[in-house]
Amino acid sequence: MTQENNTEQTTQSLEFGASCTSPVFYRVAVPSPLRRAFDYLPPKVGALAAQPGTRIRIPFGARKVTGVILDIVTETDVPPAKLRHADSVLDAAPLFSPELLALLRWAADYYQCPIGEVFAAALPARLRAGESIEAAQERWRAPQNEASKQEQDAACSLLSRSPRQLALYTLLLNNGPAPTADILTAGFGRPMLRKLQERGLAECLWEQPAAKGAFDPNNSLGDSQGPPLTLNADQSGAVAAITAKPTTFDCFLLDGVTGSGKTEVYMRAMAQQLSLGRQCLVLIPEIGLTPQTIARFTERFRCPVVALHSSLNESERLSAWARARDGSAGVVIGTRSALFTPLAKPGILIIDEEHDSSFKQQDGFRYSARDLAVMRAHAEGMPIVLGSATPSLETLHNALVGKFRHLRLPHSTAVMPRAAIELVDVSEKPLQEGFSEAALTRLKQHLDNGNQCLVFINRRGYAPVLNCTTCGWSFECNDCIAQMTVHRTPPRLRCHHCGVSVALPRICPHCKSATLDTVGLGTQKAESFLQRQFPNTPVIRVDRDSTRGKEGLSNALARVEGGEPCILLGTQMLAKGHHFPNITLVIILDADGGLFSADFRGQEQMAQLVTQVAGRAGRAERAGEVLLQTKHATHETLQALSNESYAQFSQRQLSQRKLASLPPFAHLALLRVDAPDPASATHFAETAAQLSVQLSKDPRLAVDLIGPMPAPMEKRAGRFRVQLQLKSERRGRLQDHLNYLVANLDQVKLPPRLRWSVDVDPQDMI
Ligand code: ADP
Ligand code: ZN
Ligand code: ZN
Repeated sequence: MTQENNTEQTTQSLEFGASCTSPVFYRVAVPSPLRRAFDYLPPKVGALAAQPGTRIRIPFGARKVTGVILDIVTETDVPPAKLRHADSVLDAAPLFSPELLALLRWAADYYQCPIGEVFAAALPARLRAGESIEAAQERWRAPQNEASKQEQDAACSLLSRSPRQLALYTLLLNNGPAPTADILTAGFGRPMLRKLQERGLAECLWEQPAAKGAFDPNNSLGDSQGPPLTLNADQSGAVAAITAKPTTFDCFLLDGVTGSGKTEVYMRAMAQQLSLGRQCLVLIPEIGLTPQTIARFTERFRCPVVALHSSLNESERLSAWARARDGSAGVVIGTRSALFTPLAKPGILIIDEEHDSSFKQQDGFRYSARDLAVMRAHAEGMPIVLGSATPSLETLHNALVGKFRHLRLPHSTAVMPRAAIELVDVSEKPLQEGFSEAALTRLKQHLDNGNQCLVFINRRGYAPVLNCTTCGWSFECNDCIAQMTVHRTPPRLRCHHCGVSVALPRICPHCKSATLDTVGLGTQKAESFLQRQFPNTPVIRVDRDSTRGKEGLSNALARVEGGEPCILLGTQMLAKGHHFPNITLVIILDADGGLFSADFRGQEQMAQLVTQVAGRAGRAERAGEVLLQTKHATHETLQALSNESYAQFSQRQLSQRKLASLPPFAHLALLRVDAPDPASATHFAETAAQLSVQLSKDPRLAVDLIGPMPAPMEKRAGRFRVQLQLKSERRGRLQDHLNYLVANLDQVKLPPRLRWSVDVDPQDMI
């Protein structure tokens, strides 16, 4: 609960200055880990623009920071002597609409996150740093009035005696229009820009002509698509439903198998919104936001399309954000945090691959972008579409109980029927480096027929374990309870949990024998094995190690798109949205880990992954085959995926979740504690558990408590981890319980270096 809601303390009003106007105070979200807002007096001058949603510069302790005004109020419980004036109001108009502001405040409460951290997550770094949004859109270039080569040369000789100015002129000539911030970062000052401007060698422009305002709704569609596709009946039905009431909230689950044309449905609904002059916000999983995805939208729509993703620099990010906010961008595509981008004319929200775990932030402000998206659409009065071939059980449940409208696209648009998943029982068969005889034979057949194959391994590196065959010693990370993974290129032992790496040892540190051997299979080992088996076929590896560079993934995908026979080998990076029309065989080496996971979502995640990977086969005119190697061929989950479908699997999982009273039939929160020593972590978790038990004595606050218990991964990066699970079938009750619990825990004095956090609706229990 934030301080502002605390009515128990006496409130006192304060006369502001000697004027007769009633006093006002700004209630401000300040970047600070404290779970409350702070009150300030208006600045001594320039308070006129202040409104909820504008940023202000304020003194905070000894620092100056940028905060966001949440409310303008007439009473405060801060004693007059402690109240300070804000320095200045930074924005001429609010950055956030009242609806978005309310959503962010709600999210801070719901996810038990300090309000200042929520706003920090919602603002681009440049705005967080206090830069003005107008200046951020300023660009500089060398004059473009057909400056001939001679004129440029003349300018250069004119500047020959001031090498810095010459360097700046050259920069503008070659890289303009360049954002002011980038020029400052390159080491040139504003005075120098002005000098060049006076000499007529630099001109200032604005990124986006504000006067022009929004994009042209009558001209928002591109023409590079050729004749539009004729929608099939399922697609038409879906489009009709989504477009029926374009300016009203409604939530749709677009449940369509891979290749069923979901994107086409999104684009029809988006076209409608654009023609109404409204904007579209599309959220995509982190791995899915590739240049190919963006190209699909820029080809279709003529209006400006902006993308918000991790490889933008800060001025690009701010520029995209500003164009969403001022309405000049018609389509905004981004990953999780793009959800908070203000839209001048919100039209429709689309969440592609809604089941993807990257929509849940795992640290700091632990929000679910999918869940908040539904709230946002509701607050701003627009339709929202959640699309997936493998909907999460939460979303499916909402569709089944009628909260969301369930739109199905059960057929692929490809000519060939979908590939069934064939189980290969490897429980009693010898494997060569993880491959069964059947898998190798099938690979050869498909390659001989001139086709491409995909091999899926959910483990990067060379091998998961390095073992001594003499004494049985295996290499664990010093800082985690986890085995170190063997990497060959470069040769190191790496911990995938904390990132530590050490040189690959040659002899066993325990018994000194030179009998170290790798156990298990990673992508690197599989790559060298397959390359030996099929020396004339390119083996293309795609995992986080092979795609480090900016172009790594695109290059690998371009090679596959070339169409030559090849083996595409990789981790779950391959399971997201890419089209591989020539792949006819998919081999999943091992999914058994997901069958017996400690996490109750283990089977759901495994089923999604297997279904998504299987969906890569036979997308075009060629029939596909999918082999799944398993030691548990009779397991009911694998049987369901093989003989039935994801839909039937998920129905069955839902009934099991119901019996076990697990999400979506109950609501969870996880209190995580970690510290360098196990005793203090456990002690704090016990304190929290006692508080929780006390609270549960009040029937309005009663929740189920599990723990304290060690986290599934007991030690990570040198810290011991303990957790407490809180559960209730009533969301409101769990929320109330958490509000009190967190307020109490905030008062507990913490031992040095102990950290705790609350994760509401946790996505993974690790
Ligand atoms: P999804 O997003 O459901 O996996 P896509 O929207 O990417 O599927 O569509 C898969 C392929 O089918 C694309 O190449 C798309 O152009 C094509 N497609 C979509 N709708 C139709 C249609 N009605 N007729 C023919 N091809 C279509
Ligand atoms: Zn040994
Ligand atoms: Zn480690």
